[in-house]
Amino acid sequence: MKNILQKILFASFLLASPFAQAQTDEDVEKVADIFETSLTKSSAYEWLRYLCKNIGHRLGGSPAYTAAANYTAQMLDTLGADTVWLQPLKVPYWNRGQVAKVRIVNSQTIGNQDLSCIALGFSGATPRLGITAEIVEVKSIAELEKLGNKVKNKIVFFNRPMDATKVSTFYAYGGAVDQRSSGPRLAAEFGAIACVVRSMTLKQDDVPHSGMTVFNNVKPIPALALGYQSADLLAELLAQEPNLRLNVQTDCSTSPEQTAYNVIADIRGSERPNEIIVVGGHLDSWDIGEGAHDDGAGCVQAMDVLNLFKRLGIRPRRTIRCVLFANEENGMYGATTYAEYAKNNKKEIHYAALESDAGGHSPRGFSMDAVPDAQKNAFAKVQKWREILVPYGLYDLQAGSSAADVGKLRELGTILFGLKPDSQRYFDFHHAKTDIFENVNKRELELGAGAMAAMVYLIDKYGF
Ligand SMILES: [Zn+2]
Repeated sequence: MKNILQKILFASFLLASPFAQAQTDEDVEKVADIFETSLTKSSAYEWLRYLCKNIGHRLGGSPAYTAAANYTAQMLDTLGADTVWLQPLKVPYWNRGQVAKVRIVNSQTIGNQDLSCIALGFSGATPRLGITAEIVEVKSIAELEKLGNKVKNKIVFFNRPMDATKVSTFYAYGGAVDQRSSGPRLAAEFGAIACVVRSMTLKQDDVPHSGMTVFNNVKPIPALALGYQSADLLAELLAQEPNLRLNVQTDCSTSPEQTAYNVIADIRGSERPNEIIVVGGHLDSWDIGEGAHDDGAGCVQAMDVLNLFKRLGIRPRRTIRCVLFANEENGMYGATTYAEYAKNNKKEIHYAALESDAGGHSPRGFSMDAVPDAQKNAFAKVQKWREILVPYGLYDLQAGSSAADVGKLRELGTILFGLKPDSQRYFDFHHAKTDIFENVNKRELELGAGAMAAMVYLIDKYGF
C-alpha cells in the first residue's frame, strides 16, 4: 500500500466492520497491489486491441476463431503460464450470407421502406426474391400460442421491448429474450413463413442486434432482428394498416461442422495443485462488430489474472486455470466439452470458477451460484471479504446466476462466480456492429481484471 490516506481509509473500514478479524493487513495490501498493478501494468487492453483490430469478430469454427485461439495461447505462454494447450471440439457452423432485407411494401402512407435488420444466428434462407406476406404482431410467446395456426403463411413480428424499469439491464434482457431465442421456432411450428423480432436493446437507435435463435428439429424459417426505431415504425404503421405486408430476404446457410478450441492455461498450485480455480470468458463472438465487450473483454481479464499473479510474484496454493471457451454464442459446445473433461478427470477438483461475460464496464461485484449443499459456507465466507473489496466498488456480492460457460460446472459442486459490471450500456453494444474496441474503456476493463484477480487471491488463500 503506497498511499497513506488509502491506508487510513482501509483501517477505518476494518474497525467499523463486524468481520474485523476476517482479513489481515497483508490481504488489504495485496489487494491494493493487485489493483495498482492492474491499473498501471495490465496487458488486457493491448490484448483486446489485437483481438479486435488484427483478428476481428470470430464466430466459433471460423478461421478468425482459430487465429484468436492461437494468439491467446501464445500470449498465455509468454506471460509465464506453466502449461498452455488447446482443447479441440466440433462446432456447428452457420453463415450469415450477404443479404438481409426487411422491406415494408406498398404502405398506403409511406410506400416502400427498408427497415434496419440483421439475421439471427441459425436463421433460414428465403428464395432469391424473398418472401412477401402479411404481418401478425405479438407481444409474447403466450400470445402467439393463443393465435396458433392463424399465423400460417404470415410473418410473425415479436414486439415486446425490454422492460426499461429494471435497473439491471440483464433482468430486462432475461425478461424479453425468449421472443428471440424460441419465438421463431414456435412461429415456424404454427406455419409462419418468416419471423422478425424487436432487437434486444434499450438504446433508442436503429442498430439491429443479432443473437442465437434455436430451431431444434424444426426446419428453420428466415428470422431477423429489427432495429429499435424500425420496430417502432412497423408497429405504428400496423396500427393504421393492419394488412400491411413485408418483403423479407436472407441467404443464410449452414456448413458442415468445423473444429474450434478451448484455450486452457495453468499456473500450477504450490500446495494443492489438484484443486482448480477456473477464470474464464468466451473467445468466440458473433460475426459482426469485433466481439469487444462480448466477450473479448472477459477473455483478456481472465488472462490478466494469470498475468497479475505472475507480475506480483504471487505463488498460488491452488492451481489457477484460465479457460477461454469456444462457441458460447452458437451452442456452448466449448463449455460442454470442458465440463465433460472436468467431470472425467478424477485427479482434479474444480474448486471454484469465475467468469467475466457481462461486458468490460466498471465492476460492481460478483454474483455467486452453487448447488444448495455447497452454497451456504461458501457464500457466507465471501461476505467476510466484503470490507476488503468495497473500496474498489465491489459491493454487490449476491447469490444469482453466474455466467453461461462456468455454469456447466455447477453439478460438480464447484462454487461459481460471475463478474458483475455496471450493466447500463452493455445492451447498447451486445451482438451488434457497435461492439468494437473503441467502446471499451481502458480503466474500466483493468478494474474488472483487478476484481477477478482479487477474488481469486482470496479464494486461493482462504478457501470456503
Ligand atoms: Zn457473451
